[in-house]
Amino acid sequence: MQQQHPNRRYFSDDKNIKFLLQASNDKQQQSHVQHRLLWGWLCHHASTRLLLSPNETTTAAPSSVTQNPSVHLQLNAPSQQQQQATASETTSSSSTSISATNQNDNTLPHQPANKTIQVLKYIHTNGTVYQALNTPPDKFQAFLKYLGVHVPIPTNNNIQKEHPFQHYQVNATQELRDEWRALWKQERLLTDRTELLAVYPSDQKRNTLNHDNKSKDRLSDKSIPKRGGFSDHLYLYTERLLAILRDEYTLHKQAHHSNEESWLLSWLQQHYERTQQLRQLSTMSNTTEQLGELKRFLEWFRIQFPYYYDRCASCGASYKEDSATQESDPLQASFLGYIHPSSNELSGKASRTELYHCHVCRQFTRFPRYNSARHVVEARQGRCGEYSVLLFTVLRALGQEARWVVDWADHVWAEIRLQGRWIHLDPCEAAVDENAIYQGWGKQQTYILAFYAPPRGFTTSDYPLIQDITNEYTTDAWSVIQKRRDESEAEVRQAIQEATEKLKEQLTSQSYLIEHV
Ligand SMILES: [Zn+2]
Repeated sequence: MQQQHPNRRYFSDDKNIKFLLQASNDKQQQSHVQHRLLWGWLCHHASTRLLLSPNETTTAAPSSVTQNPSVHLQLNAPSQQQQQATASETTSSSSTSISATNQNDNTLPHQPANKTIQVLKYIHTNGTVYQALNTPPDKFQAFLKYLGVHVPIPTNNNIQKEHPFQHYQVNATQELRDEWRALWKQERLLTDRTELLAVYPSDQKRNTLNHDNKSKDRLSDKSIPKRGGFSDHLYLYTERLLAILRDEYTLHKQAHHSNEESWLLSWLQQHYERTQQLRQLSTMSNTTEQLGELKRFLEWFRIQFPYYYDRCASCGASYKEDSATQESDPLQASFLGYIHPSSNELSGKASRTELYHCHVCRQFTRFPRYNSARHVVEARQGRCGEYSVLLFTVLRALGQEARWVVDWADHVWAEIRLQGRWIHLDPCEAAVDENAIYQGWGKQQTYILAFYAPPRGFTTSDYPLIQDITNEYTTDAWSVIQKRRDESEAEVRQAIQEATEKLKEQLTSQSYLIEHV
C-alpha cells in the first residue's frame, strides 16, 4: 500500500476533491497526483441518459473533511474578473428572488459553501438572450465570440462600470432551472457544472408535492431527499448502467449485420493481439498469470485511450502541460464551461460538451462527453467516465463478469471477477488489483458502489446488482466511513434496495436488455 507523503497537503472542497498543494520532494508523484485530482471533477462520468451528469454535486462537506486543519487554502486570489464584477451593475430580471450582489464568483466550479449561483446575462440587440452560470465575464465573452455574437466592448479606461453583461446572484429555483434548461437546449447557456440543470428524482417529488399542496410546511417535507444527495445520484448511476446496456445492445445489433459477435469484440481482435488470452482468463492456471495478462491489457488500453485534459484541436497546445511548473490551474485558463452538444455529438449520446479556448492560438476546442462506446473508441478522447464504461463494456464483450464502479467523489473504474473475487481495474491508471491506490492519493472514501448486470441473455443475477463496496477501497474503519456520510446506514441501505429493485425490473422487462443476439 502506498503511504501518504508527510510533506503532502491537500485541499478538500465540499465534494471531497483534493488538491495537492505543497511541494513534495517527489515531484513526479506530486505532478501525477495533482493532475488526477485536479481533473477529477471533470473526469467523473460521461453522464446519464437523463439530461446530465451528477458529478458536480452540491452536497455538504463531510465533517471529517471540513474539520481537517490542513484544509485552509483558497484556490483563487481575487482576480481581475472579480474586481470587474465588484463594480458591475446588478440587475433583476425575473420575478423569482434575485438578490443584488457586488461579488462575482471567479472560482472553480466546486467552490464550497456559497450555493447561490452567479448569473451573467447578455441580451443581444435582436432580443436573443445568452447566459452563463458561475462563469467569469471573460469566459462568457469568449463563449459569445465562439457563437459569433459580437459584444460591444467598452473602450474607456474605467472598464468596470461599462461591463456589458447583466450580473446577479440567485438561489436556483425550479423556474430558473427550467429557464436555464431551455437556454441550454438552444445552445445559449454556458455553465460551470451541469448538475445545476440535472433532473433529479427529488426534484420530481418536490414538484409533485408543490403541485398537490401549496401549504408552505408541506414544501419542506422531510420525506424528500436532499437535492443531489445519495439517492439522487444512485438513481442517475442506475440509469447510467441501463444506458450502457442499451448501448451494448446497439453494438451487438451493429455486429449482427456483419455476422460478428460484437462490434467491440471485433474491433479489439483487430487491434489487440492478445484478445484471445483475455477471453480465456479463467482457464489460466494461476492468479499471477491472470493479473499479468490484465496488466498488459490495461497498459495497452491506456496508450490507445489517453486521458484528455485540454489539448487544442488546432495547434495541439495544452495549458495544463504549458503551465505544469507554474502551479497554476489549467481550468482557469482554457476551460470555458459546459455547453449543449451539437446534433453530431448527440448521435454519440453525449449529454454535454466541454468548451476550451486555447491560450496559444485562441481557437476553440469542443470535448463532447460521449456515452456511446463506439464513439469513445473512435474519438479516443476521454477521461475515467468514458474509459471505465468502455472497459466495462469490453470486459462483457469478452465474456467476463464485470462491474462498473463509481466513487461518489470523483472517479470511476471497473472490476472483473476471477477465481471468486472481484478485481480492481483502473483504465486511466493501468492499475490492476491496486485497491489502495486512491487512498494513497489522499482521498477519503465516502461512497463507492459497484453496479453489476448479468451477461447478455441472462435475466437472473449471481451477484448483487448494486453493492456498497466502499470498504474494499480503504483501510478506514467502517465507523469512519459512516461519519463522512450525510445519510444514515439505514437510508443508504434503503436507497440501494430501491435502486436494485428498479434495475431488476428493467433487466427482466426490457427485451433489448435480455434478448439473445
Ligand atoms: Zn491552439
